[in-house]
Formats: sequence, C-alpha cells, structure tokens
Amino acid sequence: MKKFNRTLVTTALPYANGPVHIGHLAGVYVPADIYVRYLRMKGEDVLLIGGSDEHGVPITIKAQKEGITPQDVVDKYHNIIKDSFEKFGISFDVYSRTSNKVHHETASEFFKTLHEKGEFIEKTSEQYYDAEANQFLADRYITGTCPHCKSEGAYGDQCESCGTSLNATDLIDPRSSITGNKPELKETKHWYLPLDKYEPYLKQWILEEHKEWKPNVYGQCKSWLDNGLHPRAVTRDLNWGVPVPVDGGEGKVLYVWFDAPIGYISATKEHTPDWEKYWKAEDSKMVHFIGKDNIVFHCIIFPSMLKAEGSYILPENVPSNEFLNLEGDKISTSRNWAVWLHEYLEEFPEKQDVLRYVLTANAPETKDNDFTWKDYQARNNNELVAILGNFVNRALVLTHKYFDGKVPAAGELNDFDKETLAEIPTIKAQVEKNLETYHFREALKEAMNLARLGNKYLADTEPWKVIKTDEERVKTIMNICLQISTNLSTLMEPFLPFTVNKLREFLNIEPLAWENIGENVIEVGHQINKASLLFEKIEDATIQAQVDKLLATKAANEAANKPVTPAKENINFDDFMKMDVRVGTITEAEKVAKTKKLLKLTVDTGIDQRTVVSGIAEHYKPEEIIGKQVSILVNLEPKKLKGIESQGMILMAEDADGKLSFVSPDQAVKPGSEIR
Ligand SMILES: [Zn+2]
Repeated sequence: MKKFNRTLVTTALPYANGPVHIGHLAGVYVPADIYVRYLRMKGEDVLLIGGSDEHGVPITIKAQKEGITPQDVVDKYHNIIKDSFEKFGISFDVYSRTSNKVHHETASEFFKTLHEKGEFIEKTSEQYYDAEANQFLADRYITGTCPHCKSEGAYGDQCESCGTSLNATDLIDPRSSITGNKPELKETKHWYLPLDKYEPYLKQWILEEHKEWKPNVYGQCKSWLDNGLHPRAVTRDLNWGVPVPVDGGEGKVLYVWFDAPIGYISATKEHTPDWEKYWKAEDSKMVHFIGKDNIVFHCIIFPSMLKAEGSYILPENVPSNEFLNLEGDKISTSRNWAVWLHEYLEEFPEKQDVLRYVLTANAPETKDNDFTWKDYQARNNNELVAILGNFVNRALVLTHKYFDGKVPAAGELNDFDKETLAEIPTIKAQVEKNLETYHFREALKEAMNLARLGNKYLADTEPWKVIKTDEERVKTIMNICLQISTNLSTLMEPFLPFTVNKLREFLNIEPLAWENIGENVIEVGHQINKASLLFEKIEDATIQAQVDKLLATKAANEAANKPVTPAKENINFDDFMKMDVRVGTITEAEKVAKTKKLLKLTVDTGIDQRTVVSGIAEHYKPEEIIGKQVSILVNLEPKKLKGIESQGMILMAEDADGKLSFVSPDQAVKPGSEIR
C-alpha cells in the first residue's frame, strides 16, 4: 500500500440558497468529521476543507424572486450554514466561500492556464434564449420534459427525478423559467473541456487502479465511462459567477461545476501558505466526501480538469453516500421536507451528539436510508442512555460510593478480568479498520461494543453484592471499570466529541491520543469528579412535537399542490343572465344557536333588507363583517336552514385548504348594483 504523509479531506460545498439539513450531514459532513478527528488523534497531518458554493443559477433565480441581489442571498445562507456547522462540531480547518476574492483569482488563473495550454475547444452553437427577458437560458433557467425518464420539470443541466445530467437542448418541450415562454435558439460561443480526451486515462485510473472504491461510486463511474465521454461546456451566458478571463468572454462566467471544486483549492490557499504540498505532493492523500448526486463531478470532471492543468494530484478515494430520506419521503428544500440543522440546534440544545450518533448509526452508506423521529428516540433511549450512559454512570457513582471517588488499586486479576481487558485492543483494531475503509456505521457499532463490554463486566462481577464480603475484590472491579471508561473517552471522540468532553470532566483527565487506547492510563489514587448523566431520556411528547411539525408541512404542501377543479361544461348567455347577482351590504350578523358553521346575516340588497344564512362562522366573526360589501345571488329559491328562511346566497371564494373569503368590489358600490 502507498505510504502517505499528509491527508487533505474535502467536503462537498453546500449550496448557499438554503440552510443545511440532516441529509447533508449524514451524507457528507458527519462521516468526514469522524474521519478527520480520528486522523488528528493519531497525530497525522490532516486538513478538513469546506465552504459555501455561492454561484450558479438557483441563486440568481432566488434573488430575482425575492427582489434582492444574489450577494444578499449568499450572505444570508453562508452565515447560517457556517454558524450551524460550528455549533454542531464539524471541525473544519477552514470554511470558506466561492464569492470571495481568493477564489475568483484561483478559479480565473486555473481557467487561464488551461486556455493557454490549449486544453479547451471553443465552439459556437445555438443555445436557448428568452427574447422577452433578453437573456440566455442556462441550466435551471430552462425546464422541460426529461428525454430519459419523461418526467416534467427537468432542468437544463440535470433531471432531478432520474439523476441524468443533461444539455438544455435535450429537453422536450422546453420553457423559460423566467417568463414561461417557449425559448428561441440563438448563437453563442463557449469553451468546452474535451472529456473524451481523458477517457482512456480515467478508465485505467478508476476502473483498474481503484477497484476498492465503494460499489456505488465505482459503478456510476463505470457506467459513465462505458457510455463514452463527450466535450462539456465549462462556461455560461450569465452575469453571476467568476467572469471568463480571456478574450471573447465578456458577459460570460465559468460554469458553477467548473468553479466549485476549485473552491477546495482556494479554501486551502486561504488557510495556509503551504497549500501546495497538500495539492501537489505525491505523498499527499486527497479524499473527497460527497453525496451520490456529485459523483460524476468529483470522479470524472474535476479529475479531468486537474489532469489538464497537470501539476495536481488526483483523489485517492471518493467515499460517497446514498441519500437519507425523512419519514419515508425524499428530503426536499423546496417542499420544506427536512430537519434543518439550525432549527435542530435550537430545539434540542446540547444534543448535537445524539443527532451525530443517529445519523452515523443509520448512515446511508450502501443504500438510501430513512430517518424517523421514532428511531431517533429509540437510539437515544435504548443505546446512548441505556448502554453508554448507564455504564459510565454506574462506574463513576460506585467509585464515589465505595472509595470517595479515588481510583482504587487493582489486586491480582482473574481470568475474566484479563479477558475483559484483552477485548479493548481488539475493539480498537476493529474501529480502526472500519474507519480507514470509510465504514463509519460499522466503526461506531464496534466502538459501542466497548460500552457493552463494560455493562457485561459489571453485571457479571456484581460489585454491589461483593462489597459486603470482599472490598479488595471490588477495588479491582472498579479499577477495571474506570479503565474502560477512560478508554471510552478516547475511542468515542471521533463520533461523540461533546460527550467525551463531559466524560473527561467527570474523570478529571486531559484528552488522550488514539494510541493510548488499551493502555492503563488512569493512575491509582487519582481523584475523579462528581458525575451527572451523559445522556437524558427523550420523552414521547418531544418526538410527537417534531412529527406534528412535519405533518403540518405535509398538509401545507398538499394544499399548495391541490389541483384546480376542471372547468364545467359551457353554458349559453341566456343561462348566465338568469342569475341575478348583486352587491349587498351586511348590516347585521349573529351566530345561529347550536351550530358551528352558520351565521344569520341581514343584507341590504338595494332591493330590500333580507335574511341570509351563510356557512361562514368558522372564517368570520359576526362583529368583523358588519358594513362589509359582498356578492349575493338574490334570485335563488328561499330555503329553510335551522328554522330560518334564507333568501339568497352570499358568494364565497374557497381556497385549497378550505378557507373561505368574500368576493367584494374593490371600491364602495351602491347596494343593488348588478354583477355580470
Ligand atoms: Zn429524468
């Protein structure tokens, strides 16, 4: 195996048009953070690189919709994302952003180098153009039907239903997302990276030399390579992004997927003047943590760019996860179907590790997985509280009870003691093996086995019984329990950094190195502190509140998506003229006794003062509507409702969620005015 002297870990740049959710965390940031914390504990030279991706069309579309600048959009979300990562303990060495100067310079230089080396093809082609908006329609500015899966609403660069990467001209029935118009074709010049040129190299590098990559990553690469690569445009007709820095580039910017991965380089530059050794030295190992939707960009396109530039190393591994769903549905920013990190941090203070634990224990490493609040509760209560928290608590409480919190000396060890202690290095080796091969779920499960071992040891040795007859034996038992607790404070650190800080405070010890796991490092006579609970039980009501929140989101989405009732059959003009609709003014209103929905109204119709019973009591209070002008059908046959004769009908507009509104003239009108 190749020997590396430093590691550069990059994490997919979250897109700055919304906050970060649990899907992002489980797919990328939690596993990357575990990996880097582990390497740091081993004393290795490692950098964790991150930043916000602030270019691209979704940001300009959002800015246009909200009537603010793209910079306003990215400033808002960059700050929310950066702050929530920090509070969640994602231990970035640098968290940068692609709208800053160092990135614009770096991306610009990178493009110029490739241009000077003749690595691009310049090509004039016809692209979709919206004449009314006076703008070319790049990427998400155009939508249409996907030519592969036939689903509607595919974007000009990608279909989100089937994940296929597209060219805008592939779309069936394309529409401008600015005006909804059918776009026209207009000539424009762009720069293309000829990916086909790197195809033989990529085949050798990935398919032959990196068979160890995860099957989902390897498989997707193989499918791309088997289908054949084609030149890909790396510029766009837009004004938000890194300007194309060569002649003829006016009014054009780099394609967001060209500039975003260069963001890893810019961020490293921002962090250290020594950045080049991480990016260019042959003994550096680069690992990209990403979600499955980014595989092609990190395994095919970015490596081709780096190869074309010539002085950079390529990634050693690209551990990509599958998707995490939420309560059985795909997580979606636009449908607000997500658990947002910044909201979680507010609603569950001091519970970062519970979420880190659940997202790792249930990580979508080999297939899409589902996050449910019930599972979150069960893992907290049955695993963190009942296994890890319970063991540590008993070890500490009993030491205080029997030995005033001083670490007792172990006497002679029996076979069971020896077997128990011998398990620790075995568990350590299992955790290491899994972490180094990016199996974080399995690594966490192995680490929890140390807490299970502690519980089993306590249950079998029963110090609370033995203390009555053999205090010396209990000294040995508690010494071993404290050794296990100390080892837990080290072994758990990559996974549960907040919890181990608490545990060290209880044990009154400093952080230890990874290599200390398995050694007896807690000294006899050492005074430990009073302990409190590491984890607390999460009650049903807390979980129900989160489920209710999601149900409310679902109801709101359903109402918003409810189809409009289809049009009725045509009628002739005479039929229409039979209806006598007038403007009336409500002069009196009261609730109809013993009903929930009915109000009894008196309406001045201009013709007369009449009584109308109307089913609007859940939408309007009687006192609010006196004086209100409304539309009333005056020639409807009278009808008795709850013993009151109703003479006519007030016309109401009904919203998708069933909410009723009056249909009123937009200025005062004489009662009796005809509506037609
Ligand atoms: Zn599709």
